[in-house]
Amino acid sequence: MVVLKTTREIEIMKNAGRIASKALKLAGVAVEPGISTLELDSIVRKYIESEGAKPSFLNYGGFPASACISVNNVVIHGIPSKNCILKNGDIVSIDVGAFFEGFHGDNAATFACGDIGSEAQKLIDTTKESLYEGIKKAQSGNRIGDISNAIQRYVEARSYSVVRDFVGHGVGAKLHEDPSVPNYGTPGRGVRLLSGMTIAIEPMVNVGACKVKVLEDEWTTVTADGKLSAHFEHTVAITPNGAIILTQSE
Ligand code: MG
Repeated sequence: MVVLKTTREIEIMKNAGRIASKALKLAGVAVEPGISTLELDSIVRKYIESEGAKPSFLNYGGFPASACISVNNVVIHGIPSKNCILKNGDIVSIDVGAFFEGFHGDNAATFACGDIGSEAQKLIDTTKESLYEGIKKAQSGNRIGDISNAIQRYVEARSYSVVRDFVGHGVGAKLHEDPSVPNYGTPGRGVRLLSGMTIAIEPMVNVGACKVKVLEDEWTTVTADGKLSAHFEHTVAITPNGAIILTQSE
């Protein structure tokens, strides 16, 4: 069931989104060779808690940390670890959610660690751009498939693939709500978008094939072919004035 939010609730969600966005940015600027992913997780947790909010992911379904931190061929749900030390040339996807005054904000971005190659940079740029292609279609009266298809077309035109086993989602009082927001699909198909819907749009883009596998820890999700993957996400509200990105901070 899709839960529509009032204008007031969307205002509250902007606060959760701002906290999630700032936490993500703080972790992103700390990405450098020699730092562990556990240290990045600590930056995220401390900032969110300093705002009186809670990390959405901590203990969610048993997830043991505040952020998902996914390096290189890890697509999503990487578990922060003191033993995972970043190296020059790595790409680092960080996914952060904050729960504040009853609502979640959810966002993610992929960061460069030191000097990365042009191939990795192009992957990051394409993934980020595809998110904005999707957001452009997050208009009342459109359908989910319009968002999905815009992302898929943008990515595949650049010879990358979109992950299919994991998708975006509604977000609000619960971290994961209806509807699902796939990164592939057919224009004009799927749930109709209405003002008051709040959704997390989150393309996961692979250099190689779209196939992924989940490791034995039951979280870490890697590309099946071992190639690089990137991930960008915003929480977006659909309003009569178009899409508003809720996960924003100065
Ligand atoms: Mg999400």
